Amino acid sequence: AKKSGKSKYMHYDPSMSNALENDHLLISHIKNAYENKEFTLHYQPQINAHTDEIIGFEALIRWYSKDFGYIPPDRVIPLAESTGLIIPIGLCIIEQSIQFALEMKKKFSSNFKVSINISVVQLLESNFEDELFERLERYHLDPRYIQLEITESVLIETSGTMIVKLNSIRDKGISISLDDFGTGFSSLTYLQKLPINEIKIDKSFIDEMLTDSKPAKLVDTILYLAKELNLNVIAEGVETKEQQDYLLDHGCSIMQGYYNSKPLPIEEVILFCEKRIH
Ligand code: C2E
Ligand code: CA
Ligand code: CA
Ligand code: CA
Repeated sequence: AKKSGKSKYMHYDPSMSNALENDHLLISHIKNAYENKEFTLHYQPQINAHTDEIIGFEALIRWYSKDFGYIPPDRVIPLAESTGLIIPIGLCIIEQSIQFALEMKKKFSSNFKVSINISVVQLLESNFEDELFERLERYHLDPRYIQLEITESVLIETSGTMIVKLNSIRDKGISISLDDFGTGFSSLTYLQKLPINEIKIDKSFIDEMLTDSKPAKLVDTILYLAKELNLNVIAEGVETKEQQDYLLDHGCSIMQGYYNSKPLPIEEVILFCEKRIH
């Protein structure tokens, strides 16, 4: 795909072949992709490996560019953040996630949450929560079906308005998960200050916990903390049975990762759920 894209555009703009590396070029394509509704979501199941239940799904943005093929979110999101495009794109992600929740609710009528990644740039918008609540009302979705994944970067806002905002979101019945836990500068104060329901143990710890005693001890410590603070805990990036068994043995039952399922398009999530349930 990369090859054909290259030759196709060589005619009028040689720099196009470098679009993946060229921020300015990619930004203009992101803008077009938004206008042409090219962004979709895949959903990765979150499993209670203890009871074998599906307890939720993380929504992850996907962009298959006609010109460049698949562009990973790690490339798209930072550019969308730096240009402000994350605001309209983020609202579109929220709407798609709400529609997905409605469809899953209709099909499976069980308890689950759809976890939506929210950038700090979105949270800094003064009307973020109003836009969110407005959509939940418009689509008649009970807020308990939604969870927001935030990172500790939300605390760059020290004035306390962020905490007020997160509190009002949680008061609505929306859950909040602290993503990539353990990777930042997270002081334990954050756990105390932020109104969170869940912490998500970063994949880097899961990757190394079976081969190195330090990450293994950190995982144990995080699990202990979560228990003491009455927080849910989920492990991300669980790729093997050995990792899952280890986590189960150490008191963590909620898993997300390739071992259970990759992020899937909606039709495949439905098949995945049908297979697990029946
Ligand atoms: P994240 O929030 O930490 O998401 C987890 C990433 O790990 C996803 O990458 C997921 O596909 C991948 N993953 C899940 N299980 C496994 C596993 O077992 N092994 C491996 N190797 N990887 C696994 P993805 O989809 O490429 O997203 C990367 C990052 O981009 C996300 O990291 C998140 O920070 C950001 N992102 C993705 N979608 C959105 C979105 O809708 N909004 C915002 N603001 N950020 C998003
Ligand atoms: Ca996430
Ligand atoms: Ca994460
Ligand atoms: Ca991560």
